[in-house]
Amino acid sequence: MNKTIGFIGLGKMGARMSKRLIQAGFSVVVYDICHTKMDDMQLAGARTATTIQELIENAEVIITMLPQPADTKKVFIGRTGIIKDLEEGKIIIDMSTSSLSLTLKIYQEAESHNIKMLDAPVSGGLNGAEEGTLTIMIGGPKKVFEECKTIFEAIGTNICFTGKAGNGVTMKLLNNLVYSVNMCALSEVLVLGESLGLEVEQMLTAFKNSSGGSYCVENKAKNYILANNFSPGFSTDNLLKDISLAMELAEKHSQKPAFCGLAQKYFKIAHAQGLGGEDNSSIIKIFRN
Ligand code: NAD
Repeated sequence: MNKTIGFIGLGKMGARMSKRLIQAGFSVVVYDICHTKMDDMQLAGARTATTIQELIENAEVIITMLPQPADTKKVFIGRTGIIKDLEEGKIIIDMSTSSLSLTLKIYQEAESHNIKMLDAPVSGGLNGAEEGTLTIMIGGPKKVFEECKTIFEAIGTNICFTGKAGNGVTMKLLNNLVYSVNMCALSEVLVLGESLGLEVEQMLTAFKNSSGGSYCVENKAKNYILANNFSPGFSTDNLLKDISLAMELAEKHSQKPAFCGLAQKYFKIAHAQGLGGEDNSSIIKIFRN
């Protein structure tokens, strides 16, 4: 594909992902409401747009990587939304972790303006974004997915096409539920181990090579808990947003997953105790108290 990509949202993930696209040879134009975030991108070879309108005029495929569903809504629909201003046939790809109901609403709006759409949230954290090894969970029409495959290949190594519109978001929310339970369980057990006289580093080595191994052991515990550095990463507030969206979805389907509910309770406590802006692995501080 030699279409120009417009990338909106140059935060911790978006900046890294758009740099991967540039490195793969795509022509990329970027926009962030925080204009200083665009300076670095210019050095990396992107063109910058001073307004979102300028971006959409210069791109055929528009990717968003935004923090909260409210930000995604604002960018795509309603009074400030771009869909109504896009030329027919253009493609939008929301890679943020968003709500299913909003995603489906955006699909509806896109369809009514003859705009193609995919939902394509990612997993793999900052390292995955930096190295282009993200897992990408994609929903939407297969034909549009095929059209955009080379974009995904520049950003990720595990590209999961899940079929129906919205399935990418559902899959991602469920993934983060599993992750949040893992993170709580690991933190609780590390604190228990410490009180029993074990060292965190030794526990991590043992767990990693045993049935207790996980992404939390190999990545989060090693890079954040052991390093005692909780600058995000993936913030507690962003994870709490995902857990809440997933729990709302479960509730809508008359389900109340018990372990996930407990994880939600602990991350709410972390938020209330001022850990919202820290990496979510700082949940261990709650168990240490
Ligand atoms: P972030 O807060 O670091 O970055 C978000 C960026 O979006 C910021 O630069 C902000 O200025 C910009 N922004 C907000 N509103 C905007 C608007 N209206 N127009 C243009 N720019 C706007 O967040 P992040 O950690 O990069 O996460 C982004 C998304 O990716 C979230 O949905 C998150 O849940 C998901 N995610 C994050 C991680 C992670 O490890 N950080 C991993 C997987 C998925």
